[in-house]
Amino acid sequence: MAKVALETCPNYEISKVDEAINKCISSLGGISSFISKGDKVILKINLLRPSLPDKAVVTHPVFIESVVKEVQNAGGIPIIADSPGGPFTENRLRIDYKICKYDEVAKRTGAELNFDTRFEEVEFPHGLGIKKLKIAKFALDADKMITLPKLKTHMLMQFTGACKVEYGLVPGYEKMALHGKFPSASSLSKVIMDIVERFPPTISIMDAIVGMEGLGPGNGKPKRIGAVLASTSPVALDVVAMSLVNLDPKSTPLIKECQSRGISDADISNIDIVGKNLDELRVYDFKHVSGSSKLSAIVQAIGRFAPPKPFVNEKCIGCGICKENCPNGQISIVTDGNKKRAKIIHDNCIKCYCCHELCPNDAIDLRRF
Ligand code: SF4
Ligand code: SF4
Repeated sequence: MAKVALETCPNYEISKVDEAINKCISSLGGISSFISKGDKVILKINLLRPSLPDKAVVTHPVFIESVVKEVQNAGGIPIIADSPGGPFTENRLRIDYKICKYDEVAKRTGAELNFDTRFEEVEFPHGLGIKKLKIAKFALDADKMITLPKLKTHMLMQFTGACKVEYGLVPGYEKMALHGKFPSASSLSKVIMDIVERFPPTISIMDAIVGMEGLGPGNGKPKRIGAVLASTSPVALDVVAMSLVNLDPKSTPLIKECQSRGISDADISNIDIVGKNLDELRVYDFKHVSGSSKLSAIVQAIGRFAPPKPFVNEKCIGCGICKENCPNGQISIVTDGNKKRAKIIHDNCIKCYCCHELCPNDAIDLRRF
């Protein structure tokens, strides 16, 4: 039976985060049962795009710092890594680490920040969605991988957590190409679960102290949840995390895909939750992608016939990030008076919402008309 550790943590004060993470890991057997002396350990964070930690777009630096210390205490060598949306280059990583304050974590702890942007094509002989995929070398070279997802809503997938965070093993623009090949939430769920099954994490520890509600994963609002969760099963972890924010796991495309694969951890009755009581911590007023989990299901059903389209609003500064990341070339940058702005042609828009996800200025609205 899969085990998920659940603890409370009121804020990002380092001593409180240390205590919550340590309790979670201890409930699962202690860090030494996962990490051996000399292990090269990738800490696979959620680094969607450069963003200040209090915006809840990325895994909080204090959360990462706490896990770094756990790994170091076990004699492991922690390396903080992700392939964010957009270009996967050393220069881009340097900017992201600075804005997200990960460079300060590295300075304080001596942990390494990953600048290796190489990748390799990997076979997925048992893949149900993919048979081959480019994967970042940092993941292939590691002895262990600890994933550190942030609990957030997701416009396409409804929820992003311990399974979806592994999509970041796909380097830079390759993610965009995959979105083009697998545009629907159900087809992308197949790809994500292929990656999770091919590269299972040693352990996943979720930053649910402050999550993101509403228009996640990039443009929602920070929401205090006050929890830390950990598990060796990313599926079980996501099922408990969804339940924590009052989202029915069975209504999400990812858990439906897990159920169709016969993954028993996709059923909450097969999960042993240790630590705090889930019902006592449940956040009933968490806003899902369409307001509430019940409403979300209705909108998702309608959405099959009329999914919302992306529209550029007045906050656009013409930076071009959406254009670079549109898998179907639907966006151009035009001059409008004396300023530049993005323009979307909707003819071949596949509604992947990458433009909405990666816009740093909240300048893409999703509407039906
Ligand atoms: S919509 Fe956003 S990402 Fe696109 S050009 Fe405007 S500000 Fe940049
Ligand atoms: S315009 Fe936006 S939603 Fe449409 S295909 Fe391009 S990135 Fe995806």
